[in-house]
Amino acid sequence: MTQTIITVKDLCKNYGAFQAVKSISFEVKKGEIFGLLGPNGAGKSTTLEIIETLREKTSGQVMVDGIDLDKDPAAIKKIIGVQLQSAGFYPGLNLIELINLFAGLYNRKVDPIELLNKVNLADKAKSKSKELSGGQKQRFSIATTLINQPRIIFLDEPTTGLDPQARRNLWELIREIRNAGATVIITTHYMDEAEQLCDRIAIMDEGRIIKMDSPDKMIDDLVATGFERPKQVKAANLEDVFIHLTGKEIREE
Ligand code: ADP
Ligand code: MG
Repeated sequence: MTQTIITVKDLCKNYGAFQAVKSISFEVKKGEIFGLLGPNGAGKSTTLEIIETLREKTSGQVMVDGIDLDKDPAAIKKIIGVQLQSAGFYPGLNLIELINLFAGLYNRKVDPIELLNKVNLADKAKSKSKELSGGQKQRFSIATTLINQPRIIFLDEPTTGLDPQARRNLWELIREIRNAGATVIITTHYMDEAEQLCDRIAIMDEGRIIKMDSPDKMIDDLVATGFERPKQVKAANLEDVFIHLTGKEIREE
């Protein structure tokens, strides 16, 4: 039996008269990678930030690992990891110093090198965060979410703007985090990424969840309606060409 780790029921969020989230309900299972997809403005970040206790909801219920958001948001905060925007890091500190700073904030003891090893950045330990590439910054920012050994990790568009190798690199890291026992909730605008990475996805549009299922089932459902791609697809695409020419998945950045 798969356990439920997050339950969202009839969640609504209004910004003034504007309804950004219109009574959505969904469950996230323990140990899955759950994707929240949808066009810009659909309400994905609002939904995540409510669950992360960073934003007030208008109405509805949220339970995270048995904890009621209305009763004990502080307890929820302790068991989740939220990816911070790398822009927020002190640019003058090196990675070890930053990890120690965060560990202090979380009141946790961590071995910075061991943590950097996990995200393949040990050789950058003495570099400042401003000296990292886009992909390295994202990996470092994911490392900081792991400091408090969270049961659930929230990643809001972690691969936006990354090159194809750096994206694949991050997919590998996200899989490793899940395989180590965490539950992952991710938003992305890359459908290939959602298809590769997510066990289940919810598609949001204008504040509502319009479909929720495994990527495979969603594709089968569409095909069953008689849908066909307008043009015969070749055995490879331009992204395959790019990866083939510039290096394999785990190329060092
Ligand atoms: P997504 O992450 O799916 O792109 P958001 O949750 O960021 O969507 O935003 C959903 C809608 O709510 C958008 O129309 C956005 O403009 C609006 N919105 C988000 N935050 C605020 C805010 N603090 N005040 C007013 N409107 C907001
Ligand atoms: Mg967003």
